[in-house]
Amino acid sequence: MSDSLFSLPPVPGIPVRGESATYPIGRIFCVGRNYAAHAAEMGVEVDREKPFYFTKSPASAVLSGAAVPYPPGTENYHYEMELAIALGAEVFRASPDEARAAIYAYGCALDMTRRDLQLSERAKQRPWGLGKDVENSAVFAPLTRAADMAPIAAQRIHLEVNGETRQDATLDELIWKLDEIICHLSGFYHLRPGDLILTGTPAGVGAVRPGDVITGGIDGLDPIRLTLTDPA
Ligand code: MN
Repeated sequence: MSDSLFSLPPVPGIPVRGESATYPIGRIFCVGRNYAAHAAEMGVEVDREKPFYFTKSPASAVLSGAAVPYPPGTENYHYEMELAIALGAEVFRASPDEARAAIYAYGCALDMTRRDLQLSERAKQRPWGLGKDVENSAVFAPLTRAADMAPIAAQRIHLEVNGETRQDATLDELIWKLDEIICHLSGFYHLRPGDLILTGTPAGVGAVRPGDVITGGIDGLDPIRLTLTDPA
């Protein structure tokens, strides 16, 4: 290997409950509109034909507990509480059985979003990049191995801002189930360990301001926390 011209900021590894090693972040895929009540609050119909995705850069990742500055370029920065899947095997054109077997771990995640830019770009039929691929916007709590928890069913998923509940749903409300997402996404990518999939947010999304503390949880998983500070 030749030397690099310069070094990049390190991408954090995600702690895993019961492991001393961390889970390295390869790619971050995010599913759009995967809860009917959230699609309705976004003013769109649920498309049951195919799921759709956007991505976040691994460089946008931060760990739960972080305090991060309110980002530039938005007046409407939103929280989205989500279940994250961490893959532990290579899968391509996965069968449902292969998809389920490829899930290494689960965790709580936040998909922080410049909602004003997402919606204005959507209205112009432009990509959502500026709205979604925001610095410090992919927040990960410690992971729990799939083998160490009950199967994903109707666990509660919830989020609070400064202690006040804003999102409260159950995982059985997911429109695209986890194996369906992996089957479909693996038709477009050679998925592999290090790939994370954020599975969409329930209803109740909303704006936060500098000074706000976001907390969230999913039954059986480590909780998540993010503090927003003044713009850098
Ligand atoms: Mn999302």
